[in-house]
Amino acid sequence: MFSLREIIKEAEEKKVAIGHFNISNIEGLNGIFNAAKALNLPVIIGVSEGERDFIGVKQSVALVRSLREEFNYPIFLNADHTHSFERIKEAVDTGFDAVIFDGVKLPIEENIRITKQCVEYAKNINPGILIEGELGYIGDSSKMLEKIPEGIGVGKESFTKPEDAGRFVKETGVDLFAPSVGNLHGMLKHSPNPSLDIDLIREIRKSAGVPLVLHGGSGITDDNFKEAIGAGISIIHINTEIRLAFRKAAQLSLQEDTEEIAPYKIMKNVMLAIEKVVEERLKLFNFVK
Ligand SMILES: [Zn+2]
Repeated sequence: MFSLREIIKEAEEKKVAIGHFNISNIEGLNGIFNAAKALNLPVIIGVSEGERDFIGVKQSVALVRSLREEFNYPIFLNADHTHSFERIKEAVDTGFDAVIFDGVKLPIEENIRITKQCVEYAKNINPGILIEGELGYIGDSSKMLEKIPEGIGVGKESFTKPEDAGRFVKETGVDLFAPSVGNLHGMLKHSPNPSLDIDLIREIRKSAGVPLVLHGGSGITDDNFKEAIGAGISIIHINTEIRLAFRKAAQLSLQEDTEEIAPYKIMKNVMLAIEKVVEERLKLFNFVK
C-alpha cells in the first residue's frame, strides 16, 4: 500500500494530477470511490469544516479508512479549508491523512505563524501526515455564482507572487502549497470560470519547491486543466460540480417518482450522477482516453 506522499510523487513524475473531491454524505463517498475504482486511480476525499461536522469528524475518518482497508485501495482523507489551529489539531488527532490550514484572509506573517504551528504539531503526532498551506484569496464558498466575488483579483498583481510562495513554504515547512493563479471557489453561472495563469503556476512551482494544489477546479476548461497540470499542479479540488450534480439528480429523482420513499432508492441516481462527474474529471486529470 502506497502512502499519500508516494502517490503525489508518482503523479508529479507522470505529469498527471490526483483528483480531490468533497463529500457531505455516503452518496458522495460511494459515487467518488466507485468512479476511482473503476479507473484504478488514487483519489483524495475532502471534507471542509462544515462537511466534516455534518458527517462527523471521527465518522469521516472511519468511512474513508474502511474503504482503504477493505479494498486495499489508495483513497485518502483531507481536512479541507481548516481555519484554526484547534480544528487542525482535532483532524490530526482523529487520523486524517492530510490537513489544510486556510489562513488566506490573514496578513502573511500571521498566516505563516499559524501554519508553522500546525506543521509542528501535526508532524509530531503523525510524521506521515501532509500539511498544506495557502496564500492568495480565491473566495470561500463552493456555490453557483452570478459574478466573480468581491476581493478576488483578476490580474497578475492580485495573484500569489512566486517570491511569497517560496518564503511561505520555507518558513512554514508545508508539504503542499495552494496558490491563487486565476482560480476561484465556486462556478460562474453564465460562463466558464476565468483562465489560469499557466506561466505563473510554473514560476510558483519552482519557487515553492513542493507540489502544488489547485483549488476551485470546478468550471475550468479541459485545455486549461491540462496546461496547469503540465506546469506543476499535482492535486485538483472539485466540489461545486459535485454539489450541482447532487442537487439536479435529487430533484429529478423526486419528481420522477412521487410515491417512492426509500432513501436508498431515491438517492441511487444521485450517487450515479456524482460517479459520472468524478469519472470525467479523473480521466481528464490522468490523461486517460
Ligand atoms: Zn478549496
